[in-house]
Amino acid sequence: MKKFIFVFSGPSGAGKTTLIKHVLKTFNGDVDISVSCTTRAARIGETDAVDYHFITKNKFEKFIGDGQFLEYTDCYGNQYGTLKSTVLDLLTHNKACILDVDYRGAKAVLHGDLSDADGSFKIQKIGILVLPPSIEALKQRLLNRRSETKESLNKRISESFNGESIAKYDHVIINDDISRSKKEVQNIVKLYLK
Ligand code: 5GP
Repeated sequence: MKKFIFVFSGPSGAGKTTLIKHVLKTFNGDVDISVSCTTRAARIGETDAVDYHFITKNKFEKFIGDGQFLEYTDCYGNQYGTLKSTVLDLLTHNKACILDVDYRGAKAVLHGDLSDADGSFKIQKIGILVLPPSIEALKQRLLNRRSETKESLNKRISESFNGESIAKYDHVIINDDISRSKKEVQNIVKLYLK
């Protein structure tokens, strides 16, 4: 039996979150998202255990030491990590799993090894890269979001495209029209979940 992990990556502001939400809604019941751990503070409107597991740096270090992460990374000065147990739990319950990760996380997952404990199913990982039509468009989207300080905006822009090409992506979506991109991502997921 084959199970799927959809690894979404791309610069923040490219529209990745909107497309992931669209997939979750369209394939409700068949697909779910792995909630990551992070050491960053919750933003207004974010809920613990829904948007992220907001944990302390000490707890994050303990999870690293205990080998609990499938992958983890330092991004914009905070730590983010995907718990192996969360991913395997979703797959075991017959859900395809979505990961929303930065390019380093994508590389680690797409190139790395992940198997279930007793080898009862095969895992196929599908890399989906979401890109904005231009850097200028990305800047404007981040400004419109109003959640960034000048410093964090510059950091996000300068780290935006670093190494994106390194990971082995199966699909690239250039998000210049959100309706078209939604259809595109829906068709991609459908290819696998037939
Ligand atoms: P934000 O702080 O805007 O929620 O996320 C910042 C970046 O961290 C985004 O590019 C997001 O995809 C990435 N990210 C979120 N969770 C994880 C994770 O578990 N692992 C990795 N490698 N990146 C993550």
